[in-house]
Formats: sequence, structure tokens, C-alpha cells
Amino acid sequence: MHEGSCLCGGVRFTIEGELAPIQICHCSQCRRAQGGPFATNIPVDAARLTFLCGSDLLRRYASSPGKVRAFCSVCGSPVFSERASVPGIVRIRAGLLHEPVRATLGFHAYEDSMATWWPLNDDLPKHPKA
Ligand SMILES: [Zn+2]
Ligand SMILES: [Zn+2]
Repeated sequence: MHEGSCLCGGVRFTIEGELAPIQICHCSQCRRAQGGPFATNIPVDAARLTFLCGSDLLRRYASSPGKVRAFCSVCGSPVFSERASVPGIVRIRAGLLHEPVRATLGFHAYEDSMATWWPLNDDLPKHPKA
């Protein structure tokens, strides 16, 4: 069981079972949505995700057709994204998880779009797009 919360603590959730590897997304939308060089996303079966509180605080922004990003309307923390083309899966933002987080790093996505100011010097698989 893993637990996570947003910056203000208004949104709290648990994830049952093992965490999938973290997907590091360098797309320009994720950079803006996080205010950082990339997003660190963990795909989670929605059935394993339970909101303890704050699901009413979530606001959803459709950043592109069929893609929604949910964030805390109080503190602005990005919480998850979901795609209509991948029903039943939400991508939780790994930074919300309470430590210690036992998840491995999976791969880099949208390497083509990555910030020029961030060094990339690991051996993870790199995908030019998704
Ligand atoms: Zn919050
Ligand atoms: Zn992205």
C-alpha cells in the first residue's frame, strides 16, 4: 500500500499493490504542467487508486483532445493525468507519493521535446515520442 498527497494535504490517496516503473515525460505540456524539466508519472489501474479525501478538490484540465490533467484546486499540485484512449489507467505524479517510494525508473518519453537546460546522462531507454 502506497500513500500520497498534494502540497496542501487536501487531496490524499492510496494505491494498492506494487508500483509500475516511473515514466519520465519530457513533453512540453508536462514541463509546463509541472513547472519543471519533466513529469514523473506512474501508471496505475484506477481500481487500485482510492481517494481518502479531496476528490472534490480535483479540477480537470483538458490539455489536448482526449487527455485530461487533474490537479488540486487549492494548492495547484498536479495529481494525475488520464487519456480517453487508455481507459481505466491514471498516471499518478510520483512526487506526491510519501517516502520511501519503492519504484524503479522506467524510461524517458518525448526525448525530442526535452528542456535544453536539463542534462540527461542515465542509461534508461529513451523514446523520441510517447
Ligand atoms: Zn492541495
Ligand atoms: Zn508528457
